Order: sequence, then structure tokens, then C-alpha cells
Amino acid sequence: KKDDDKDKDKADRATSEQVLDQRTRMILLQMINRGSVSEVHGAISTGKEANVYGAVLHDDKSGDTIQRAIKVYKTAILVFKDRERYITGEHRFKGGFDKGNNRKMVKLWAEKEYRNLRRIYAAGIPCPEPINLKLHVLVMGFLGDRKGWAYPRLRDAAIDGDDVDRQWRNLYIQLLGLMRKMYQVCRLVHADLSEYNILYNKGTLYIIDVSQSVEPDHPRSLEFLRMDIKNVGDFFRRMGVDTLSDRTIFNFITTSAGSVEEPAMSAAVELLYDSRHAAADEDEAAELEVDNEVFRNQYIPQTLEQVYDMEKDAQRLGKGEGGELVYSNLLADQVVAPKRQDGDEEQSTSDSDSDVGAEL
Ligand code: ADP
Ligand code: MG
Repeated sequence: KKDDDKDKDKADRATSEQVLDQRTRMILLQMINRGSVSEVHGAISTGKEANVYGAVLHDDKSGDTIQRAIKVYKTAILVFKDRERYITGEHRFKGGFDKGNNRKMVKLWAEKEYRNLRRIYAAGIPCPEPINLKLHVLVMGFLGDRKGWAYPRLRDAAIDGDDVDRQWRNLYIQLLGLMRKMYQVCRLVHADLSEYNILYNKGTLYIIDVSQSVEPDHPRSLEFLRMDIKNVGDFFRRMGVDTLSDRTIFNFITTSAGSVEEPAMSAAVELLYDSRHAAADEDEAAELEVDNEVFRNQYIPQTLEQVYDMEKDAQRLGKGEGGELVYSNLLADQVVAPKRQDGDEEQSTSDSDSDVGAEL
């Protein structure tokens, strides 16, 4: 009986979560009137922070039907509290955010996703095309087939046919390249990268869900990058791929030497495999594993101030503290802050709320 109640609760909640509030309905109506979409369909995904709906646009001229996806951020929810760590230190949001104002925060969040998508899309990285943004509602290109079925998440991708191992390895290498390009060309660390936020179709990986992505100058960007690298490595290892060490990948992503375009980029990864120090015996394999673990836990200085505050560090070491301070050479001078993309921030999207009707 208890279980029945639970299920009923769940069903009720699911239903109520899919009901769009008045403001959201007004925004969608406005988007329909302005021709971003013609019809809004059912939910493709209902998440903690956002729902994603399918939509179509009928192109009157060509008679074509174009699929769209609409991500609606939830405004009534407090889950945004734990997003603070992504926004704090983000120079693009210098004004900070008003924690007491959910609507404003959610709008900021949608805006962040829209801007990040624009960069990623402009760099030629497979991702949804950013189409329109209004307050907490983001319209983007649909990643799926013509019938409206979304591509599976990488987690659910059915990789079959010839040489499945080879295919997984190729996807791994493809993803390392995307991460590198994202870092170096888009100046972004995804910061929530995993098999759940990558869609798969016909050998191509698509990056999605980039609202929390941060720039390299974010005080915690390298920590987020290391987390992304770990998630990706864990997943591909589970798929049987012989992965490179986290440290090697970290260098590959952040060090600017070499191409960020295929096929040169994949060739560079192959070189990393070739030059990899193969463990001669069990002891050495264990050592390499420990090294990887150390890298994962190591203190990553993110600013010059942190790198050069040697005096303080020396004091700490003297007191037997500071064991986490590992000034790996890869961090001091090889980490590059890629060039700023001019004009990127200036193309304001903020006109989007000024013309929403007063009733909103
Ligand atoms: P969340 O913040 O809820 O994780 P995501 O951006 O990851 O939001 O989207 C949730 C799900 O919606 C994805 O796993 C994917 O299945 C689907 N989805 C998101 N964007 C698109 C898109 N542009 N095209 C097709 N499906 C999408
Ligand atoms: Mg997601």
C-alpha cells in the first residue's frame, strides 16, 4: 500500500511539473507569434532544473518542417543554490546575482547556456544550434531524427557493427579533441561533462547542457576540468577503452601547442599513446595508478598569486602541512589562457526581457 502511495505521489508531481506557468506560456506564445516555432510538443526530458520540450517550425516558404528543442528553466525551484560555485568568480557575471530573486537567477542561467552554446556552435563543435532566448526559455536546434526522436545520450548509445572496441576508442579520442577545442577556441570548461550530457548519432558526439560552463579564468575552472576528465575517463574505461592518464589529458587540453582541428588533433592523441610510458611490471603499473590518483587530488594553483605565494607555502611545509602543494611544471607556465574572443560578450542578449509584455 505504501508503494502505491509513493507511485501516486510521483505521478502527481510529474504531472504538475509539466504544467507550464503563465509567464512561460506567454513567452512561448510570443515565440510562436514571432516565428521561432510553430508548435510546442511534449517533454523530451524533465529534469531537476529544467524541462526540455520538442517543438516544430513550419517553414511556409519551403513547406519544410524543422525540429526544435525548447529548454525551459524552472523558476520556482531552489536547486539553483548549489550553482553558486559556478557563478562566483565568473567575470561575465560580475554583477553577481541576487540569491533572493529566483526569476532573475534562472534568467541568468538560461542566458549563460545561450552564450556558451553560441561560442561552441560557432567553433564548429557539434551541439544544438542556439536560436532564441527569452528570459528563462531557450530555443535551440533539435538533435534527433526527422520523426522527432532525440538522439540517445552517450550513456544509452547502442554501438554495434564491426569492431565495437575500435568505435569506442574513436569516440574517446573524438571527445578529447572536443574538450581541447572547447578550452582553446571557445575558452570554456564544460564543468558537467559526462555520458549524460553528450548525445550520440552515427559516430558523432554532440555536446549539450552547457549552462554551468566556465571560462579558464574562473577560480575553479581547472578543478572543474579535472572533474570532467575524470568522468570521461571513468566512462570510457567502463566501455573497455584503454584510456590515457588524467594528467596527460589535462596537458593535451590546456597546452596550446598543436592543432585544434581534425584530423591533426586525433593524430596528436595517437602520438600521446605512442609516447606513453608503458608500465614494465606490476609495481610500475601500481605506481602509475598512484600517480593518477595524486594528480586527481593535487592542488591546482589557478592564479599567479597562488603559484608565487612561496613564502606562505614554505611556512606551511615547515610546519609539516601543505602536503597537497605540488607545483607541477605543467601548471606554472604551460597552461595557457586562450585568446579572448572579441565582441563575444558585447552581443547582448539582454534586449530579450525589455520587450516582454508588462503582464509578465
Ligand atoms: P538538464 O539540465 O535537465 O540535464 P539537458 O540540457 O542535459 O538538461 O537536457 C536534458 C535532456 O534533454 C538531454 O539528456 C537530452 O536527452 C534532451 N535534449 C536536450 N537538448 C536537446 C536538443 N537540442 N535536441 C534533442 N534533445 C535534447
Ligand atoms: Mg543534462
